[in-house]
Amino acid sequence: MKILTILSGKGGVGKTMLSSSLAVLFAKQAKIVACDCDVDASNLGLALGLRENAFKWQDVETSEKAVLIEEKCDGCKMCLQNCVFSAIHWNEEKDKPEFDSFLCEGCGACSLACPKSAIKIVKVKNGKVGYARTKYGFTIVAGQLKMGESGSGKIVDYLKKKALAIAEEEGAKLVVCDSAAGISCPVIASLRGSDFVIAITEPSPASFRDLKRVLCIVKHFRIPYGIVINKWNLNKPLSKRIERFAGKKLLGKISYDREVVNAIVNLTPVVEKKCKAANEIIKIKERLSKCKSLWGNTKSNSYSFEG
Ligand code: SF4
Ligand code: SF4
Repeated sequence: MKILTILSGKGGVGKTMLSSSLAVLFAKQAKIVACDCDVDASNLGLALGLRENAFKWQDVETSEKAVLIEEKCDGCKMCLQNCVFSAIHWNEEKDKPEFDSFLCEGCGACSLACPKSAIKIVKVKNGKVGYARTKYGFTIVAGQLKMGESGSGKIVDYLKKKALAIAEEEGAKLVVCDSAAGISCPVIASLRGSDFVIAITEPSPASFRDLKRVLCIVKHFRIPYGIVINKWNLNKPLSKRIERFAGKKLLGKISYDREVVNAIVNLTPVVEKKCKAANEIIKIKERLSKCKSLWGNTKSNSYSFEG
């Protein structure tokens, strides 16, 4: 089983649009599972026509917080001095610490520093993970971080394991992961174990700069990748520069097309529409069908679309 991850350095450049379309196209060729790793703004399900109530959800506990055992505390303030996240405030009235659950990262430093063992680190329900069957004949696994909670990278880790278990059970050949945007923990967790990465960008200075940043991470993990330029015709000179930067890694270009907007507002993958952008995505999928890293028997660090 192989993992294809679609990511972007910047949000809003078409990652979910491409992920949903590729999932639908690959599902016609092989058994697949889709995995929405963007737990801060989960929307791959929507792009595939599924509302939240179509999922079977379960709470997950991948985060920890400090809790005070008041009767053991003698007010020595060691915990206060050892929290680098400013998550501890001093309650002058009680002469005891107070923990801010929004700032606490659950690192455990205060608990280690406490000479009275008056702090315990407890697991908290910080998100949920769910799965659903799409009308395109494959399962999607998604996750959501609870408002104000931390630990999104760990939720991604958890949901990827769930997606891989479902893929194994269903005999899937490919897991299509829609990553979070940027370069933070959920992106690194999305990348983990990937066999091939598609980095999507658009011809804007911010998107080009963020593409270069995210590619530093992809290269660090030595994962083969290809680049897609979305809405390339909106800024042809900058598109040309990105093309030159991409060189052989250019996997394809998608034109700005009003039908893409229509597809998105109707919760339909673009490739279900007859339009220019859909044809360009089909070409990208055809190139990926020849990608050794995705369809070969072994993991390959070499990049080649040529079978
Ligand atoms: S667990 Fe870490 S972040 Fe939370 S209060 Fe203790 S030291 Fe601060
Ligand atoms: S380190 Fe322990 S005993 Fe000291 S103030 Fe903090 S919780 Fe209380």
